[in-house]
Amino acid sequence: MTKAKPAAFEYEFGGPVGALATTLALPVVIMLLAHWSDAGSVTTTDLLDYTADQRFWDAVQQSAVLCPSCDETALLVKCAAAVIGWFLFQVVLERFLPCELVLGSPIAADGNKRLTYRINGHLAFWVTLLVVQTGWPVWHEASQTYQLEGFPLHYLYDYYTELAFCTILLCVVLTTYLYVDSFVGDKILAEGGNSGNPFYNFFIGRELNPRIYSFDWKEFCELRPGLLAWMLLNAACMKQQYDAQGYVTGSMILLNVFQGVYVWDALYQERAILTTMDITTDGFGFMLVLGDLAWVPFTYSVQARYLVKHDPHLGYPALAVILTIYIFGYLIFRGANGQKDAFRRNPSDPTLSHLTFLQTKRGTKLLTSGWWGMARKINYTGDYIMGLTWCLVCGFDSIVPYYYAIYFMILLIHRSIRDDHMCQTKYGDDWQAYKRLVPYRFVPGIV
Ligand code: NDP
Repeated sequence: MTKAKPAAFEYEFGGPVGALATTLALPVVIMLLAHWSDAGSVTTTDLLDYTADQRFWDAVQQSAVLCPSCDETALLVKCAAAVIGWFLFQVVLERFLPCELVLGSPIAADGNKRLTYRINGHLAFWVTLLVVQTGWPVWHEASQTYQLEGFPLHYLYDYYTELAFCTILLCVVLTTYLYVDSFVGDKILAEGGNSGNPFYNFFIGRELNPRIYSFDWKEFCELRPGLLAWMLLNAACMKQQYDAQGYVTGSMILLNVFQGVYVWDALYQERAILTTMDITTDGFGFMLVLGDLAWVPFTYSVQARYLVKHDPHLGYPALAVILTIYIFGYLIFRGANGQKDAFRRNPSDPTLSHLTFLQTKRGTKLLTSGWWGMARKINYTGDYIMGLTWCLVCGFDSIVPYYYAIYFMILLIHRSIRDDHMCQTKYGDDWQAYKRLVPYRFVPGIV
């Protein structure tokens, strides 16, 4: 059990002040983006004028932006019930669908014990789509029978901001519960979440792998309710565009396909999450709870929401170029992540025998050719290229859809620095040797 603050502990994210500021700011940013993606067509200059506009701040003060429908308690209660219902539906799928039991990484703070995870996210993905498509039995008073009723997708668009608000509240409640529960009994604590500062611990998360019996909060939330909600929010925006205009634009179709593939890919490769720093290192605090459950679905769907009212009506040549860039990004992303995952699972895999590697004193091997010989974070580059295409389908009239390109660049640079630091601690001199063999971080020959 990790009780004391480790001697070599170093704050990240700007320490307690940064953690507190981020905790307070992120929910506000989610609500502002929800508002702006609807208001939409603003240039960079207009955006500055817009935020300087008294009407905007009046709306903020009247809670219309930060707490939509705050004066309609009954509506907010229904939205909160929908958010909780959605979460529980995904819990039921995780618990009762057939699964593969997979061991996680050894936990150093717990004598290298390995937790078992239920891997059935890919099946949950398809079952969710099936249920949304076919509906579920609903009791009809008139006929006194159960009848299949389709998923009311349009509610996701109509009450987007209310659902975002209620999801943020759920995140606050869940993080508070996890934080308090981490003091009960002998829990394995995350190194960063055991800093001695409550704000920082609340943000990073105290307990490393909070569980109720075999239900793992962190692994479950990383991939299911948020990612699948994101896909449905996108679909709701596509439906709204069709209902309003009688057709769906090329940008909207491409965006739904691009992001749908991204969600599918994450769930298809579910077991790969078990070796990420989110699972192995960070606690399950506000950073990941809000990130997984609210930030991902409600800010990653900003482009789809923007397109409903502000579609740039790009022509086929532009769409073809964007599609080509996306495929290029996806090939790098999938190629690099798949190669490392296969190598980590079985370094003697005959299909990888052509690759060179560095044998480390720690025991594991670091790839020095193939994708991982080009740049140390080539997988991030592929991911970023894909993300850029999500913005490009929105044209250049507004900066709002480009929030993702800005945010994701900051996230990936910061994450690469964190990982570099962790690898330096893990591998020592070997990491320096690896960096000499693979000197570039993101783009071979450039950066
Ligand atoms: P990585 O997949 O890059 O994994 C980093 C780890 O891989 C290192 O700690 C090290 O761990 C191992 N490793 C590093 N170099 C090598 C090498 N040369 N050979 C073999 N193993 C190596 O990290 P992430 O979990 O951050 O990212 C996974 C994917 O998820 C990325 O594509 C990223 O873009 C994406 N992502 C997307 C987000 C989003 O919001 N859309 C957010 C975060 C990530 P060890 O040696 O211990 O195995």
